[in-house]
Amino acid sequence: MAYDYSHTLLQALESLHSERRYRTFHTLERLCDKPPHAIRTKDGVRSEITVWCSNDYLGMSGHAAVRAAFEATASTCGVGAGGTRNIAGTSKAIVELEGELADLHQKEAALVFGSGYVSNDATLSTLGKIFPNCVIISDSENHASMIEGIRRSGVEKYIFRHNDMVHLEQILQKIAPDRPKIVAFESVYSMDGDIGHIGHICDLAKRYGALTYLDEVHAVGLYGARGAGVAERDGLLHKVDVIEGTLGKAFGCYGGYITGSAELIDVVRSFASGFIFTTALPPSLCAAAAASVRHLKASNLERAAMHANANALKYALQTAGLPVMATPSHIVPVMIGDAELCRRASDMLLDEHNIYIQPINYPTVPRGTERLRITVTPFHTAAHIAALVDALSATWAALGLEKTKRDDCHESICFKRPNTKCTDACELNRAKKCGVYVAYSAA
Ligand code: PLP
Repeated sequence: MAYDYSHTLLQALESLHSERRYRTFHTLERLCDKPPHAIRTKDGVRSEITVWCSNDYLGMSGHAAVRAAFEATASTCGVGAGGTRNIAGTSKAIVELEGELADLHQKEAALVFGSGYVSNDATLSTLGKIFPNCVIISDSENHASMIEGIRRSGVEKYIFRHNDMVHLEQILQKIAPDRPKIVAFESVYSMDGDIGHIGHICDLAKRYGALTYLDEVHAVGLYGARGAGVAERDGLLHKVDVIEGTLGKAFGCYGGYITGSAELIDVVRSFASGFIFTTALPPSLCAAAAASVRHLKASNLERAAMHANANALKYALQTAGLPVMATPSHIVPVMIGDAELCRRASDMLLDEHNIYIQPINYPTVPRGTERLRITVTPFHTAAHIAALVDALSATWAALGLEKTKRDDCHESICFKRPNTKCTDACELNRAKKCGVYVAYSAA
């Protein structure tokens, strides 16, 4: 009897349903002339909603200069790139974009890829293979795209506990000094909203002869005087060997890139199959991204407004007793700690309050730390924030979720280790350190 493919496929989907983590999509049309609003279509009915979870953090996808660059280039060069970079895809627009990006990060060269995911995967897998007997040392909370690149490099790898500099140094000490090593990490971690210890990691890497690879995907455009990210804000650009970013979040477009020394970029350009064997980004998109990067190098208005709104939102959530994590970044996670309740909270917000915040469940975050991940833009107003807090409070009441008391760490549940109370003995002690206290009821 032939293999029953359909049975296996349905079984795989059923396992997601039974764990309450089957993903459903909502069909939206973002209104770029009316941010942060969008039209939702459900069962043929259209309604206007407020988006609270977009990674178009600064609304640059709708910025007049970005749209104008896109439209002008599409009307002269057409829509598609016409081939891989090698064949017909090295457009003037992509070359100019790479110039903007290299300048942004103060590096000799830049290379644009189809996405941020591809840039991490292609670069790490290539560098791991190029350096003989290489070792990659990776933060335990690195993004899936870095993990995949490291896996595909086939090199020996070590994982250091998230942001734990003692552990990182212990690992570095054990590796022979003459072996090539790469330390891979992020600046803003997108789910917990905490920030990598860039300076400390670079100093350790230098001491032990390692290259540094920094993912600034959730920081480019948002931090630093010219929007180059946290490394720029902290005066550390020169210490990082490779800085990777995306054009798809704060820059409001699509695509990814790396920046670094001319020879490193040339090697990735020449060896990375994820760069070589795929159609280049359309010139119109490159022109739009270059316009966005250029604008954010010169303008601090969008960044400042977004950060002010993020702070105002955190304060309003805290004041209302909603379990918001005290992040040092623009990311605003509100903890729920249960996959089903998280999905129901998200559905209620959308169906009853016209507010869109997607649920974040395993495997994006560990089980028991499910959450609503809220992002704010320069376009959210005080009225939007008040409406969100009211809607969340109503949802918390309807689902029997507990609110928090601020000085309650010992009574609360460590969001890093489900079912564990946060105590002094907690190895991570995250809840105490960052003021996070998660108190929820599964009722
Ligand atoms: N790196 C991190 C830390 C991310 O969160 C993401 C995506 O969300 C990526 C890389 C991939 O970037 P892109 O969305 O451009 O593929």
